[in-house]
Amino acid sequence: MKLYMDEDANMQYLQGKTVAVIGYGSQGRAQALNLRDSGVNVILGLRKGGKSWKKASQDGFEVYTIDEAVRRGDVIMLLVPDMVQPEIYERYIAPNLRESMVLDFAHGFNIHFGYINPPGDVDVIMVAPKSPGPRVREKYQEGFGVPALIAVHQDHSGNAKDIALAIAKGIGATRAGVLETTFKDETESDLIGEQTVLVGGLIQLIKYGFENLVELGYPPELAYFEACNEAKLIMDLIYEKGLTGMLRAVSDTAKYGGLAVGPFVVDERVKENMKMMAERVRNGEFAKQWVEEYRRGSKELKRMMSEIEEHELEKVGRKIRRISGLEE
Ligand code: NAD
Ligand code: MG
Repeated sequence: MKLYMDEDANMQYLQGKTVAVIGYGSQGRAQALNLRDSGVNVILGLRKGGKSWKKASQDGFEVYTIDEAVRRGDVIMLLVPDMVQPEIYERYIAPNLRESMVLDFAHGFNIHFGYINPPGDVDVIMVAPKSPGPRVREKYQEGFGVPALIAVHQDHSGNAKDIALAIAKGIGATRAGVLETTFKDETESDLIGEQTVLVGGLIQLIKYGFENLVELGYPPELAYFEACNEAKLIMDLIYEKGLTGMLRAVSDTAKYGGLAVGPFVVDERVKENMKMMAERVRNGEFAKQWVEEYRRGSKELKRMMSEIEEHELEKVGRKIRRISGLEE
């Protein structure tokens, strides 16, 4: 796969254009600030009287209502939460779209699953930083950037990919490396990754690991260090040196025990579960389930959040982090 770097991207493609960033949260703020620092003409489209409005004004941006920002913009970056996007699109964006405008997303969910259907005479692109927003900003300020994925869903202008690369360059991503993908692959792999490994898989593994130790009679504080706290140190090693480098850094006993016993713990059945859940992402069942849950007011999500907040692992963790000064 080709990795696009600074020299592959040309900011000329944004010259003379007004970029309207819709939303000033995690990605919106980071991308708006980075683009402005890269010399791009950025305005904000926000809800009047919302918290973001004040913040964006204080950061020195011209802030408009969403429909007004779309009327003034050439490139529209839709950086509000995915579940909010369809309504914002229908009410404020679609009625104000002009031929040859560019619609940019940071995640393919709504386009890929068909919750947003733009007209044929605009470009539809994606620039998806592979990092939380605050980090996108931080890395840029350090003179670097975070990697990103770009994709083109619709190329009306004939320059859609170059425009995506210019945005990627403006937010600093081509300093770290940019990969081209499709809306389908980005959306599916993102959801499958967060469900089976990053968010879902990790939480379950840590929770079960903690519960197992506590149920065997070890003190919860000890279990917290073993099953949760140290996971960060191991992950840092994997991030820096790969699985092999991490294994070389732990004791021979940990090395042998981990390699010999791990496959009995997270076994083939776990992989089968991952396959099953990936299928629910790919056939759109998960998207439908989440959109319905959101429309019902996210009650189930709130219930699961408070359940985990009340878990013993979390109580012990909060106590330990407070004592060690990691948390207020
Ligand atoms: P966020 O939750 O941080 O965005 C919140 C902002 O959206 C608010 O500050 C407000 O400006 C606006 N907003 C929220 N509700 C609104 C409403 N009802 N009406 C109008 N405006 C509203 O969102 P985010 O996490 O930055 O996500 C934006 C996009 O970036 C999504 O497509 C997401 O998938 C993608 N993305 C996020 C991350 C991340 O780390 N957070 C990483 C990669 C891609
Ligand atoms: Mg994700």
